[in-house]
Amino acid sequence: MKLIDLRSDTVTHPTPAMREAMAKAVVGDDVYDEDPTVNQLQEMAANLLGKEAGLFVPSGTMGNLASILAHCGRGDEVILGNKAHTVIYEAGGISALGGIHSRQLPNQKDGTISLEDLQAAIRPEDVHQPPTRLIGLENTHNRCGGVALSPEYGRAVRALADQHNLLLHLDGARIFNAAVAQGVSAKVLAEPFDSVTFCLSKGLCAPIGAVIVGNHAFINRAKRIRKQLGGGMRQVGIVAAAGIVALETMIDRLAEDHARAKQLAKELARIPGIVLDPGTPYTNMLFFNLSPDFPRPARWVIEKLKDKNVLVGDDGERRFRLVTHYWIEEGDIAEAVRIFKEIMAQ
Ligand SMILES: *Cc1c(COP(=O)(O)O)cnc(C)c1O
Repeated sequence: MKLIDLRSDTVTHPTPAMREAMAKAVVGDDVYDEDPTVNQLQEMAANLLGKEAGLFVPSGTMGNLASILAHCGRGDEVILGNKAHTVIYEAGGISALGGIHSRQLPNQKDGTISLEDLQAAIRPEDVHQPPTRLIGLENTHNRCGGVALSPEYGRAVRALADQHNLLLHLDGARIFNAAVAQGVSAKVLAEPFDSVTFCLSKGLCAPIGAVIVGNHAFINRAKRIRKQLGGGMRQVGIVAAAGIVALETMIDRLAEDHARAKQLAKELARIPGIVLDPGTPYTNMLFFNLSPDFPRPARWVIEKLKDKNVLVGDDGERRFRLVTHYWIEEGDIAEAVRIFKEIMAQ
């Protein structure tokens, strides 16, 4: 019986085309800049996002860490949303390893930080205060339900950053979901930012890796930091080859994941005991709660689903997160809904 794994788009395995490209990849020593496959991936990524250069890194977490360390020195301050992945899920790396002070402002429901809050948080030149250096945003915003930030919002934050001589980093782990959902190019979304991290190993299905993009000077600094972090790899074109297939073939089809998430939402909403977040899903993520009258916790439902080969994520006592991806097919949605309905009626 097939496993229907809706926990995350990180569970995606490489496609057969990726495995073939990996087997055939031409490789070299990437620490010497001599891996042609890595170089090709980095160039493709830079072109796709409209930046001068790219750098392949083992994970999105290292991409954000190396980017923020490349922009900020010890004691500098980065402004982040309080629900940012970098704040919640990256093990405090920027402070533990970079001595960087984070200023956390409320993320609004739409994934943005209000311009008023940003403006008010930018510090004056004052010996008592850490210098504000960088603003970090996230698109799509994971903890805000996978909502996409608009190009207009990015440009408004850029204008504010320019007034105060600040740098802008985008955690664009799912920037291609944001682009496809809004019918704009990833380049347009990336344009206001000095640097962008995106993941190859989520909806794009590659097994490993992320790419950071920015100007040459930034990428050179980030490359040294990647080395310090132990992320300089050798014949890593084997892995980058899957990333090339991802960028060539897996971006436009993200629309299918978004459509399946919508279908899943529509059908789950009809099941008594399930209360969907208003507006969900924006992209490939679906968040919902158990209604107050449902007598059991989310954990109970999750265990029952697991017995039937359906895996879903929990997000607190009475809350779930489901994510659609390449390996969730049309029939899997109907099957998952059928099993959910059965369990909720028990
Ligand atoms: C997954 C994710 C990351 C980190 O990616 P890893 O490759 O898992 O380290 C960063 N930011 C966001 C928003 C993510 O969803």
